[in-house]
Amino acid sequence: MYINGHWITGRDVFTVYNPATGEQIGEAVDGNVADARGAIDAASHAGASWSATTAYERSHILYRAHQLMMDQQPALAELMTTEQGKPLKAANNEVRYAADFLLWYAEEAKRIYGETIPSARADQRFLIHKQPVGVVAAITPWNYPVSMITRKLAPALAAGCTVVLKPAESTPLCAIAVIKLLEEAGLPPGVVNLVTASNPQPIGEEFCTNPKVKKLTFTGSTAVGKALAQKCAPQLKRVSMELGGHAPFIVFDDADPVHAAKGVSLVKFLNTGQACISPNRIFVQRPILEPFLDTLKKRVSALKAGNGMNPETSIGPLINERAVEKVERQVDDAIAKGATLLAGGVRETGDGFEAGFFYGATLLSNVTPGMIIYREETFGPVAAVIPFDDESEVIAMANDTHYGLAAYVYTTNLSRGLRVFEQLNFGIIGINDINPTSAAAPFGGTNESGLGREGAREGIDEYLETKLGGFSI
Ligand code: NAP
Repeated sequence: MYINGHWITGRDVFTVYNPATGEQIGEAVDGNVADARGAIDAASHAGASWSATTAYERSHILYRAHQLMMDQQPALAELMTTEQGKPLKAANNEVRYAADFLLWYAEEAKRIYGETIPSARADQRFLIHKQPVGVVAAITPWNYPVSMITRKLAPALAAGCTVVLKPAESTPLCAIAVIKLLEEAGLPPGVVNLVTASNPQPIGEEFCTNPKVKKLTFTGSTAVGKALAQKCAPQLKRVSMELGGHAPFIVFDDADPVHAAKGVSLVKFLNTGQACISPNRIFVQRPILEPFLDTLKKRVSALKAGNGMNPETSIGPLINERAVEKVERQVDDAIAKGATLLAGGVRETGDGFEAGFFYGATLLSNVTPGMIIYREETFGPVAAVIPFDDESEVIAMANDTHYGLAAYVYTTNLSRGLRVFEQLNFGIIGINDINPTSAAAPFGGTNESGLGREGAREGIDEYLETKLGGFSI
C-alpha cells in the first residue's frame, strides 16, 4: 500500500496467483478501514496544495508519467499477463491504451476553461469557474488492470483532485506498478494513495460514507455499482459508474458475412471475452446466416487457449474458478434449451491446463431469449448467435436489456447505419467497427451500464465543479 508518500510493508498480506498456472506470483498488504481512513486523510491534506498547482505543473507530471509508462511497457505487459492472464500482445496493447490516458489528460489539464456570460443588467458580470471536486475515491476491476486505473487517475489528477485507489483483489501488482510510476513522475506525497485489500466491502463502505471523500468513481459489476451508489446517496456524493454490459452485434444481410464473422471473432474473444464491451448477443440476418456461421466456426475452432506468455496463444485463462463455472452454466443451459453447439463447449483439460482456469473458445447458434446467456453478461469465450428477419425486429431485440454500454452494427447501407445508430439505446456504437474506443472518445453506458463518461473532454468534467460568480461593478 502507498499512503501519504510511504510504501507500507511488513503487515498481513494476501497472495496473488497466476490464473494460467495457479502459481503464487506475489503478495499485497491486506488493508483495512483504518488504512482507507488514513489514505483519505492524506489525500484531503494534500488537496489544498495540489489543487493550487498550475495546470502546467500537473500536465508536466502527467507527461512524465506517460513517458515512464511507455519506457516500462515490456515489463508492465509481462506483469499483466502473469497476473491477469491475457496474451502478451494484448497486454502490450493495454499498456499503450493506458498510457494514452496519461498523455491525453496531460494535454486536457491546460484546457479547463471557464466562461463569461452576458447579463441582462448593465452593472453585472457572470463568471464561470471550474474547480476540482476534491478527494476522489476510485475502485477498479481486474479485467483491464492498468488502463482502468489511468482512465480514472489521469483526469482526476489533471483536474487538481487527489485520489485514493482500491484496485481489484486479483490484480494488485499491476496497481502497485502504476502507482510507483506516478511516484517516480513526481507526484507529491498524499496526492495519490493506494489501499490494497482482500475484502473490498469495508473499504468501499468507508469511501462512500467518509465526508472527506467528495466523489466515488467505480468500474465493475452493475450489482456492486448500484450498492455503492446507494451508500453514497445520503451525502449526495458525486458518483461515476462504469458497469456491466450485454452488447448486441448486429449483422445485416447487405454486409459481407465473411468480414463480419472475422470482426466478431476478433472482438468477442479479446481478453477471453472478459470485457464490458464484449458482444454477448450476435444477431445475424437469416439470408447470410450460413456463410457467416461457416466462417465464424472455422475461426473459433482455430483459437488456441493457453498461457498468455506463449506467442501461439490466442485466448488466455479466465480469472478464476467462479468465472469458469459461470461460463459452463450458461453454455449448458443454452444447449439444454435447444441451442446448437458448433465449436468448443468444454473446459480445457490436460497438458498445460492442470492448474489454470481455461475454457475453450465456444460457438453457439440458435440462441433464444429464454436462455440465460441471452440476458446475463457472460464474461467468457462464448459467441452466441441469434438469427433475425428484419430491421425493426432486431432493434427491439437488441434494446431488450437493462444494460446499455456497447453495440455493434455491420451494414453497407449508409441510411440503415445511421437509422440503427440513432435507435439503439447504447452509449458506444461501432458501425462496421470493432474498436470504437480511444482516450480521445467518451466511453460510458446508458441504462444500468452506468453514469458518466471516461476519456475525452467529458472525462475531466467528471472531476470538476462549476462555480458561478455574479459580480456587480
Ligand atoms: P466487481 O466484482 O464489481 O469488482 C470491481 C471492483 O469492485 C473490485 O475492485 C472489487 O474488489 C470491488 N468490489 C467488489 N465488491 C465490493 C463492495 N461491496 N464494496 C466495494 N468494492 C467492491 O466486478 P469485477 O468482476 O471485478 O469486474 C467485472 C465487471 O466490471 C463486469 O461486469 C464488467 O462489465 C465491468 N467492467 C465495466 C467496464 C466499463 O467501463 N463499463 C470496464 C471493465 C469492467 P475485489 O476484487 O476485491 O472483489
